[in-house]
Amino acid sequence: MENLNTSELNPGKIKLELLINGISPDSNIQMREREAPERFVYDTSNKYRGVLPSEIILPDNIVSNIYLREGSDWSIQGRMLKKGNQNLCEVSFTPDAKFTKMNLKSGMPASKVAVMYGLDIFSVFLNKTCVYFPEDKECHFCSLEYTRKNSGKGNVVNPTVNQVAEAFQLALDHDSELFNYVMVTSGAYRCPDKGIEKQMAHIQMMKQIQGRKNVNYHLVTIPPKSREILKQLAEQGPDTVAFDIEVFNPNLFRKNCPGKETQIGYEAYLRIFEDAAKMFPDNAVKAGFVCGLEPIDSLVEGMEFFGRLGIPSSLNIFHPDVGSKLQDKQRPDRGYLLEILKEQARIGKRYNLIPIFPVHGRRSSLDTEVHKGYFQ
Ligand code: SF4
Repeated sequence: MENLNTSELNPGKIKLELLINGISPDSNIQMREREAPERFVYDTSNKYRGVLPSEIILPDNIVSNIYLREGSDWSIQGRMLKKGNQNLCEVSFTPDAKFTKMNLKSGMPASKVAVMYGLDIFSVFLNKTCVYFPEDKECHFCSLEYTRKNSGKGNVVNPTVNQVAEAFQLALDHDSELFNYVMVTSGAYRCPDKGIEKQMAHIQMMKQIQGRKNVNYHLVTIPPKSREILKQLAEQGPDTVAFDIEVFNPNLFRKNCPGKETQIGYEAYLRIFEDAAKMFPDNAVKAGFVCGLEPIDSLVEGMEFFGRLGIPSSLNIFHPDVGSKLQDKQRPDRGYLLEILKEQARIGKRYNLIPIFPVHGRRSSLDTEVHKGYFQ
């Protein structure tokens, strides 16, 4: 924390500090009636249990992940964010959606099928049994299986099209003002092409029932092997798609993502991005990275590679999730992140890149804050 001049902090930089330092478990974050609790779909580095807010909302509606760290000198008292004894700013927590307190016709809580992420994303996670785990080939930072068996126990593992449609209809009826995006994510399927067909069935169903509501669909998926399916995705699928490559350095990719290496392969991943760049409009494909797993140079090389293709890179700031292979790895430090974010801003400008969620961003990445100029 040394060398941090708090008078120079803007909301984007405060988010960076929260992602690095966390907040003290001594914080007083008693949740109120209409605030959304964390629903533990998959990414959590919180060893503490009890009710936590889904996200913290900083000034300018900046949405940040929230994690507790023993010894952090950042805390929340009431709704004041403090560093030591210094009051920094008022904060709030994500408002809860009404549909998350409702049940589907079967009596199942709708929140077991879908949740709201941040300030504008209706989110569905399909196939929580990613096939890489039984083969011990899961991505080393991923806690999907651990979360499914622990804090996320009770969430539906494989939501059906009908269950998602019902939850979506409830959200349309009761929470339409709370979202403009639908995000569909899933663990890896045995056959990536079949997986995409299943994901597409959910998206097509939601498109059919969305009525006059303006919705942008975003799919996070393992890329298809077939060019035909890739073409179908571009022509009939979501508005935007993310193929998360996670690491650009080929050796570190193979080490950290053994399932992706076996199923798709590093070189094939890059070729799929090149093909996708020809089929989708600029900025409709995203390359997802976990930021903190490789040297600055190789990540910058990766962002340049994708930038030239009209593909924005999204940097999910590494968090050591409980139950993942990297649960004891340190978070990246401020110096590393500031250097990379500066490069992300430079590359974004050079190639006119726009992040997938340009308004409120995502809780564990700073893509949108970089795009908005908080790190210039
Ligand atoms: S593909 Fe990797 S990141 Fe995605 S669910 Fe499977 S192990 Fe986790």
